[in-house]
Amino acid sequence: MRQFKTKGIILREVYVGESDKILKIFTKLKGKISVSAKGSRKNKSPLAAGSQLFSYSDFLIYSGRNYNIIQQIDIIKTFHGIGKDIIKLTYASYFLELLDGVTEEEETNEELLLLILKTLSVLEKSNRNPRLISVIYELRLMSLIGYMPQVLECVNCGSKEKIHHFNIKMGGVLCDDCMHEDYYAYKLSQSGWYTLKYIIHSDLSKLFSFDLDEFILKELEIISEKYLSYHIEKDFQTLEFIKTNLMDLQ
Ligand SMILES: [Zn+2]
Repeated sequence: MRQFKTKGIILREVYVGESDKILKIFTKLKGKISVSAKGSRKNKSPLAAGSQLFSYSDFLIYSGRNYNIIQQIDIIKTFHGIGKDIIKLTYASYFLELLDGVTEEEETNEELLLLILKTLSVLEKSNRNPRLISVIYELRLMSLIGYMPQVLECVNCGSKEKIHHFNIKMGGVLCDDCMHEDYYAYKLSQSGWYTLKYIIHSDLSKLFSFDLDEFILKELEIISEKYLSYHIEKDFQTLEFIKTNLMDLQ
């Protein structure tokens, strides 16, 4: 019998039959995998509590020829506080959807796992603006999947002066001398630039330890959104929902 044990967070669930689920789990050991959680929708199933969305657990999995079956779940963290707040729940759903959308099956990326855990913890426990959490998460995630923007110096000439734009296509900040008419360049204030540098290069433990005023947040939101959609050609349903329903509430 081929068994393995790994920590992981549940990204998606699909109901199958009367009482089963297929789960997509982002694991430490094997990256994203699909597993069957047999009987997990029955109230008395030992898998019921640990097979909920957002749950972070130790999974014992039997690996068959064509499929994986969960045998045991030891819950580490459920992030249950997120479910009590519709805005937090919506953002958390987007964070999972984005993670699912940018990862391939069985590609390990432990830093990405640490990032989503940290992001959900901050979202659950703090009163930080979810829009700020979202921008930080998006930009950091892009860096971890191979699209780290060049924010320390001008992406074209290496200058560290007169940085007032971010160029989506070139993937970094741009100085005034290299700033020609360009459809892909977006305005970046001095504070916006410092914040970008912090988001991309600070330690994960300190990543969310700041607030932003609305002007800079808006600036970074635009850059993050354009940068993400330039590289990731997918639509995210929860993001559309946030844009049409939640933006005005915050
Ligand atoms: Zn330059």
